[in-house]
Amino acid sequence: MDLEAMYQCLGIDSQVLHFGKKIEDSLKERFKAIDARAEYNQMKVLKAMQDNRVSDIHFAATTGYGYNDLGRDTLEEVYASVFHGESALVRPQLMSGTHALHVALSGNLRPGDELLSPAGKPYDTLEEVIGIRDSVGSLKEYGVAYRQVDLLPDGTFDYEKIKKAVNEKTKLATIQRSRGYDTRPTFSVKQIGELIAFLKKEKPDIICMVDNCYGEFVDVTEPGDVGADMTVGSLIKNPGGGLAPIGGYIVGRKDCVDRAAYRLSAPGLGKEVGASLGLNQSLYQGLFLAPTVVAGALKGAIFAANVYEKLGFSVTPNSIQERYDIIQAIAFGKPEAVVAFCQGIQAAAPVDSFVSPEPWDMPGYDAPVIMAAGAFVQGSSIELSADGPIKPPYAVYFQGGLTWYHAKLGILKSLQKLMEAGIITLL
Ligand SMILES: *Cc1c(COP(=O)(O)O)cnc(C)c1O
Repeated sequence: MDLEAMYQCLGIDSQVLHFGKKIEDSLKERFKAIDARAEYNQMKVLKAMQDNRVSDIHFAATTGYGYNDLGRDTLEEVYASVFHGESALVRPQLMSGTHALHVALSGNLRPGDELLSPAGKPYDTLEEVIGIRDSVGSLKEYGVAYRQVDLLPDGTFDYEKIKKAVNEKTKLATIQRSRGYDTRPTFSVKQIGELIAFLKKEKPDIICMVDNCYGEFVDVTEPGDVGADMTVGSLIKNPGGGLAPIGGYIVGRKDCVDRAAYRLSAPGLGKEVGASLGLNQSLYQGLFLAPTVVAGALKGAIFAANVYEKLGFSVTPNSIQERYDIIQAIAFGKPEAVVAFCQGIQAAAPVDSFVSPEPWDMPGYDAPVIMAAGAFVQGSSIELSADGPIKPPYAVYFQGGLTWYHAKLGILKSLQKLMEAGIITLL
């Protein structure tokens, strides 16, 4: 059977396939550049594993307190090398990206301190962590104040206002690399480095923390290379490579990571406890695969941007912009299109391809939301996934794809659904 017939078996018409092929052919140079970065990052990960003498004894499971968990400790050394820090906390006990960020913040802030976000509003879940939205157990309840400097209209840092915002109480600056599901641009590592340098000039002892979610391995440098004191992220996004079933990481200056560890476990215990429960092999192997997995996800995002821009929709980032994270937004302008797109992504999944997602009233959202996810790991967004709130501009956000071929099928399938619904016509 040839490839076209195989695609037909998966419900892709030749018209859709040929439209996709033309777009794919036009992206050869960009895909080459992505492969080159993936190759560099693969070598970086391999070097870190070799330097730390990773061995199969590190895959052994520990239970109970987890004292002397050699696999866990070595994995943390590997993360420290890859993300360029003195120390790391990489644990299944860090339950999500939000939890890792909360542990990093609450471990390093004390009553009377002020937290600064010099890059505008942080990710939604951080609002309750910080207390921007009142919430039980927030940093605000513990007497930590918060100050925010919004970005300039062009999406760059407002250095004048940042300079004024830094004061004797400012202890920590939180900088979010990815736009998340916001409309501002994602920052390059270089831009983050400039911001950190500026903050340190204003206040040399300020702790600079970077929320690295969705940014890992998109570039060949990471925030730790440009002066971040802590780099924080989730293992069910980029660095888990799709294999990590749970976990988060905090990499950085030893004193900062230690304080986070004392917060995660208990004062006096810190990094010494925390059994790895047999998860180490998945965490190592996921990190090993992460550079190529991220490359596949990036190709999928760029492919989608080019496909849907060509069809006249507004896409962010646009078809030619440089990428600093794996998220792609497409504004469809009508609710039926959001639904058809998500149903296409779902139909392409390896898991739960037979279910059809529908919009529903999710707690905490002001409009019904539709979500497509057919993932091996629940909620994993390094796996191909999409979601869209049913409200103007009727945009979907999509990300992930453990392989480029799967991401490609997802986009083709979304095209097919949109065509069948009469929303688009392919020339
Ligand atoms: C996903 C994400 C988070 C939170 O991670 P969860 O694992 O969903 O809790 C925080 N910041 C950014 C930028 C993210 O993309």
